Amino acid sequence: MKEVKQIIDGIQASDGDGVQLVRIIGTSFFDSLDPFLLFDAFGSDKPQDYIGGFPSHPHRGFETVTYMLAGKMRHEDSAGNSGVIESGGVQWMTAGKGIIHSEMPEQEEGLLAGFQLWVNLPASHKMIAPAYQEKSAEEVPSESRGEECTVKVIAGTTRLGTKGIIENNFVNPTYWDIHLSQSASFEDAIPVGHNSFIYLIEGSVIIGQRKTLINKGQMAVLGSGASLKIESQQDARFLIIAGKPLNEPVERAGPFVMNTRREVAQAFADYQAGKLA
Ligand code: MN
Repeated sequence: MKEVKQIIDGIQASDGDGVQLVRIIGTSFFDSLDPFLLFDAFGSDKPQDYIGGFPSHPHRGFETVTYMLAGKMRHEDSAGNSGVIESGGVQWMTAGKGIIHSEMPEQEEGLLAGFQLWVNLPASHKMIAPAYQEKSAEEVPSESRGEECTVKVIAGTTRLGTKGIIENNFVNPTYWDIHLSQSASFEDAIPVGHNSFIYLIEGSVIIGQRKTLINKGQMAVLGSGASLKIESQQDARFLIIAGKPLNEPVERAGPFVMNTRREVAQAFADYQAGKLA
């Protein structure tokens, strides 16, 4: 059974044009959890915390995953794609060899909340053509386990056989958004060998046989073992995210994540030469 290996609180950070967020993966305290390079939680009802958004910027070599809990985010990219991600919707963008995009709040007031996860691509696929999958809340399968547990299955397959809406054969990710009512429990399994973590959106839970307590806003890095047991102390909502580690060298600088310094330098050169658009 999986036990908690480490608890991460994240740090306050600002990115894009002054967007206030909590960075949980991708800090000097917790650099990465292969294949995950970055995990940000943003959430505020103060427009000055988010209104600047993330104006036009490039990416190469990995995937960005945006999952919205509240509010609306408009994206546009150099491949001609655009759309609005709304509450409960997800965008899984494969930057591949390069894309330039903007991610801007569609609203001028009210609550804006969600997550961004960066998922590394294997060396063999870092230079593939960019692509994205965008799904609305209605398209994300929702698995009901009685009245006390609901699982929104963005990626991966649950033990009851519900398959996620996102296709990804690079790291075969799991991305579940789970609601548990008070004093309920959730049991499932994560593919053996995958790295995994839990992030508490609301409430508190206890994990594994050692019954480690995790509170709102905390991330728990999970150890090996396949089976997962999570019990709620009060109404709780949490994400379970897992993926196959790539075990490859990582060289990152800003929006580019490659395997060697030379490749990162090439990414900057290509961006400056207008080759990412
Ligand atoms: Mn971006």
